Amino acid sequence: MKRNSKPKDEGLQQGRKAIDQLDKELVRLLAERMKAVQGIADVKRENPDAPLRDDTRERELFEVWSREAVDRDLSGYFAGRVLREILNWSRREQERRLRPKGEESTTGAVRVGYQGVPACYSDMAITKLFSTRDNKGLARQGFRSFAAAVDALEAGEIDYALLPIENTIAGSINDVYDLLARRNVTIVGEEIIDVEHCLVALPGTKLEDIRVVRSHPVALQQCGEFLDNLVGTVAESYHDTAGAARSIAVEKAVDVAAIASQESAEHYGLQVLARKVHDQRENMTRFLLIAREPEVFDQRMPSKSSLVISVNHRQGALLSCLQAFATQGVNLTKLESRPLAETPWEYMFYMDIEGRLDDPAVATALEELRVHTNRLKVLGSYPRCMLEGATVQVSVPQAPTKKKGEVKNGNSMPRIPASPKKSSALRLAGSREDASRTRVRIGGVEIGGPEFVLISGPCAIESREQVLEAAAMVKACGARIMRGGAFKPRSSPYSFQGLGFEGLDMLREAGRAYEMPVVTEVLRIEDAGRIAEKADMLQVGARNMQNFALLRELGRLDRPILLKRGMSATIDEVLMAAEYIMDAGNNQVVLCERGIRTFETATRATLDVSAVPVLKSRTHLPVIVDPSHAAGVRDLVLPLALAATAAGADGLIVEAHPHPDEALCDKDQALTRADLEELVHALRPIVAAQGRTL
Ligand code: PEP
Ligand code: MN
Repeated sequence: MKRNSKPKDEGLQQGRKAIDQLDKELVRLLAERMKAVQGIADVKRENPDAPLRDDTRERELFEVWSREAVDRDLSGYFAGRVLREILNWSRREQERRLRPKGEESTTGAVRVGYQGVPACYSDMAITKLFSTRDNKGLARQGFRSFAAAVDALEAGEIDYALLPIENTIAGSINDVYDLLARRNVTIVGEEIIDVEHCLVALPGTKLEDIRVVRSHPVALQQCGEFLDNLVGTVAESYHDTAGAARSIAVEKAVDVAAIASQESAEHYGLQVLARKVHDQRENMTRFLLIAREPEVFDQRMPSKSSLVISVNHRQGALLSCLQAFATQGVNLTKLESRPLAETPWEYMFYMDIEGRLDDPAVATALEELRVHTNRLKVLGSYPRCMLEGATVQVSVPQAPTKKKGEVKNGNSMPRIPASPKKSSALRLAGSREDASRTRVRIGGVEIGGPEFVLISGPCAIESREQVLEAAAMVKACGARIMRGGAFKPRSSPYSFQGLGFEGLDMLREAGRAYEMPVVTEVLRIEDAGRIAEKADMLQVGARNMQNFALLRELGRLDRPILLKRGMSATIDEVLMAAEYIMDAGNNQVVLCERGIRTFETATRATLDVSAVPVLKSRTHLPVIVDPSHAAGVRDLVLPLALAATAAGADGLIVEAHPHPDEALCDKDQALTRADLEELVHALRPIVAAQGRTL
């Protein structure tokens, strides 16, 4: 035995030496090839008309490689696989060099957050994605949850977050979708990785020693068949795969294995007992790179845009949205529905389309989409991640080049550029060519349709008893929506400021009890989301009509907005305020004329009746009138209300109180039950004359 082993060893060593030499040469050639690729990328960079990909050339390359391989007694398939990988990285290298220079000048390391612990799949995706970005260094930070990573991103503690969005076996990751819809962040890239689950354990562990297999529930589910055959073991769920691997290392558990990646096994000093233990052959996860601001990328790169919409609650609304893409020849690559948490049995839809926002076809389709949506938020436009080796023909939309020095709009949401047809400043709020009008739904009530809508209730919510009594009263008089202020904007800091969230709960309870949706005013940006959870409609008061930050925040919500005219705002300014809300994604805006400041002092304000027909000719949005704050005194409310209705208002918002004498706010203008009854009686013939119902 011993005598023979020596020459055998020598042969082995010689063979290995030869291989080492060849491998070195291969790597040198790969590096040289990549240099040539970089040269080509630089030529393309200087020459924006040159196509990024040349499919004919790629096909030829495959043929040449295959032929050469077969001539040398090598499998053509094997050579093709190698070439595929080489082309893949060449493509990434080209894309990296086409990235605008400014992006590379980040001082210090780029901070990227992910959910999980080191060596998890997200961490691996970061390695892959950033290997082709010119970044001096990478500082990774693992977070406990997706939300925590997005919190850190919004707070500026990290530059990017990389979050998983879907898996080919398990489907969409809804929590991430919901975060994208709600938060002020944008998608700037994507990455796809192969998930190769392994069974990993402490070194020395044998398969038969294992009693527990620990992993993320989804991973356990993906390996169901394998685990069924592992007799005598039980599955134990853990919050992530790499964390399960780490726990074994920390606990030095000899009878526990984890389902995790090979990388995490290496990272935590574990041994791989079995590879590819998942049931389906293909197991891939797609990740999204999320940032605070959109990023510019070369227009020749195949791109994708993601949106979230909620549609009007009307027959065929979703179909109209899809039709808009079909008409413009925009390819829809994904459509996913999610229930709207605040409105049971209504849905929002996530969509991926091919192309960029500034592609004219995409821009036109999105403008069309707006007409049919309550809310439209663009989640981002970004370069598409090509599936490894895919040689399919991709259409690159011809987008206009971004001009130098183009300023960002201070709103981190990507903006849909004006379609070539529309150039007016009121792109969204302005009247439509076909004169169609928007109807805004508040709970089950629609403003802007055939019904004339009366909104009524006290100026302020003062107590549970008061608001319940007021609800009973206004309901009996014919009000369809109830008003009530929980946060009051008062001229004097010593006046009653409202009951806040406690008051809002009372208003909601009263609205529920008497089956009326409720509207209440929002004063502070930070309260908007919380108020939206309780109120059916949010009011922007006269004093806040040009609080642009507040308008933008309300634009991000999926709740109808009652926008009151500022007391010294022109009609153009009101419309621009509406434009702010709509530009941020919320199309459900109702305008309200409530009187303006003039030299006249006989009334609290001067009701601008002409604003009603003027607004109606300039916008497709519904217009209502508040005669109470214009009048300031009870007796003038009725005549002003009648005039506004005759002028064509879509509804009225009127203050009423069960005991006006006791009102803590605006007592002089509060209608009594009798006043309200009289008003409704007087309104009927005027409403009927306009072909509407009350
Ligand atoms: C209100 O409606 O309670 C209110 C304060 O109105 P305005 O903002 O129009 O003054
Ligand atoms: Mn008031």
